[in-house]
This record gives sequence, C-alpha cells and structure tokens, in this order.
Amino acid sequence: MKARIDALVRPEIRALKAYHVPEATGLIKLDAMENPYGWPDALKAEWLETLRAVEPNRYPDPQGEDLQLAIRAAMDIPEDMGLLLGNGSDELIQMIALTVAQSGRKILSVDPGFVMYRMIGLFAGMEYLGVPLEAEDFSLDLDAMLAAIEREQPALVYLAYPNNPTGNRFDADDMVRIIEMAPGLVIVDEAYSPFTDCSFMGLLGDWENLLVMRTVSKMGLAGLRLGYLVGPKPWLDEIDKVRLPYNINVLTQVSAAFALKHKAMLDEQTHSIRVERGHLMEGLGRLPGIHPYPSEANFILTRMPEGRADAIFAGLKERKILVKNLNGAHPMLEDCLRLTVGSPDENAALLDALGPLLA
Ligand SMILES: *Cc1c(COP(=O)(O)O)cnc(C)c1O
Repeated sequence: MKARIDALVRPEIRALKAYHVPEATGLIKLDAMENPYGWPDALKAEWLETLRAVEPNRYPDPQGEDLQLAIRAAMDIPEDMGLLLGNGSDELIQMIALTVAQSGRKILSVDPGFVMYRMIGLFAGMEYLGVPLEAEDFSLDLDAMLAAIEREQPALVYLAYPNNPTGNRFDADDMVRIIEMAPGLVIVDEAYSPFTDCSFMGLLGDWENLLVMRTVSKMGLAGLRLGYLVGPKPWLDEIDKVRLPYNINVLTQVSAAFALKHKAMLDEQTHSIRVERGHLMEGLGRLPGIHPYPSEANFILTRMPEGRADAIFAGLKERKILVKNLNGAHPMLEDCLRLTVGSPDENAALLDALGPLLA
C-alpha cells in the first residue's frame, strides 16, 4: 500500500503531519483561546427550546438568511457590504484561496502568524510567503512588507488584527500602506475583535481590495464553527461560487442566531476576559525571568527563561494545566508559551503552578 500511497498522494501533502489537537480531558484548558464561561441554566433551557423547531431531516437554509440577519444586527456590519458565512473562518480562508488559486499565485502574510494561511495555501496549490515581523516586539516590518508585495505581487495578503500567536495589534497606518500597495485582496482577519477596540470593519469600501473576516469562535461559540466574511458584494459573489452547498448546518444556524440575540451576555463575558487579561499580565510580570508580550487578544504570548519552555510546559501539564507550547514552532518563538486567558480561578491556578516551576 505504501508504494501506491507514495505514488498517488501529492508530495507536499505526504510531507505534512495532520493538525494535532492534544487530549485535554480533566485539564484546565488554556491552549486554544476558548471563552471559559458557560451559559446560565435558564438561557440553556431557552436555547434547547429553540432547537425543538429544527427539522434534522431537511437541509438547512442554503444562505443561512436568519443567521445573516442576526449577524448584521449584532456585529455592526456596514449595510452596503456583502456577508458570507463559513464553517469557521478557516473555511472562508479556504474558499478565498480556491477562488483565486492558479499555478504561480501567491499568498503573503507575516511570520510568525496564523498557520492556516500557509496550510490552506498549500492545499490550494498556492505559494506561501511569510515576511518576518520585527523580532523585538512583533510589529510589522513595513519596508519588508511593501518590498515583498512589490516583488511578489501576491494575489492574497492576510493580516490578523490582532495577530495570532503574538497577541499584538499591528499599526493601522502600516496596514493602510499595505492595502494600498497590494495588487490583490487584503483580508484583515479580526478573529480577536472582541478583545480590542480597533477594527477595519468601518473602513470597508474605502479600498476596493479590502475584506474583513471574523469568527464567533473566540467570543464564546467555538463549538458552533461559524465565521463570516464582510466586504464589497462583487467580491463576495465570486467567493460564494466555491462555497459547498449547505456549509452551515441547521444546528449552528439556529444556535448562533439564538446566541447573538443574547450578545449582551457574550459581551459581558469577553469584557471580563479583557479585565482578567490585565490581571494575568500583572501576575506574569511578578514572576522572575519571563517576558509576557502585550496583548489585545484573549491570550498572552510569554517567553520563558532560555531553554526551559518544554520543561515548564510539561510541568504545567503535570499540574493539570494545558497551554500551547510554541517552542520550536518558529525561530522567533523560541522558549515561548501561549497562555489563553481563562476564568479568574484558572488564571490563578496557572500563576500558582508557574511560580515553583520558575524557581
Ligand atoms: C482562531 C483563529 C481563526 C480561526 O477561527 P475559526 O472560525 O475557529 O476557524 C482565524 N484566524 C485567526 C487569526 C485565529 O486565531
């Protein structure tokens, strides 16, 4: 069988490892930027009641019309802009790539950045180029970005705003320079919009090549798998053509529309995560020998003492705390762990566990 697999599977796919999600049963989960808060029982009961009306034998609404209206109402989508739904924003990244992919076409983003831009580029047969961020503070190297755009003429530029896995938000004026220089689409990925006051949503339409992508995952609905893309309708009409029929299942359509009607509760939760981010940052600042980087997202990238990240990651896991170990993921992330902001108790447990591990 191996010979046939070797002969048949694209070499670039053969060389990959499947996306690995670690087992987390029984652990405090601070690895995946999830919202730690559940829903009150009364709200859960109300949600389950709405599911009674669902007909699982029928295909869902192909466009998710009700859900689109709920998103427009909850998320300040400019009225004149189009809206496209994805099975997570990961699916939108894939749809955009499939819309433009041709041999020799390029995707440009930053390194270290969100890994799915590179992965999906590879799946779609596009070339990925990562322009290094400034080593000091992970800000954009604007000259290098502009030079790369001029040289490579990328079909797609992705900028996560704030960036994952570094947590910082790029300078808005730098972003504008990039949008103006880019010959193709620039997708501003606002996965972490609940945790920052800045957004390009209100600037849509100022440049014909700007799209804004968001997800409900980080605000508290990661299990539903729902992302949305906003931008000028003529672009979205084209991207919509590669969307698989019924990509948003009926349970997600009904549940997300319900949740967005209770957005005030989600806002309260994300607000307290922002407050907790401040507390966690203070707590990390009091620990010896580590460097937490400023964050406008719901995680804090933290550099451990040289050569000790793997042992500290393992020590945390022994103490039933799962974080993301980025040591080895990229040269600029050496010794780094990415700590998702959890509930006050979870963050306290993290700080308590870190103390002795750093001693
Ligand atoms: C988490 C994340 C996403 C993926 O969101 P899903 O909607 O859960 O697929 C997209 N972009 C960035 C930068 C992220 O960190």
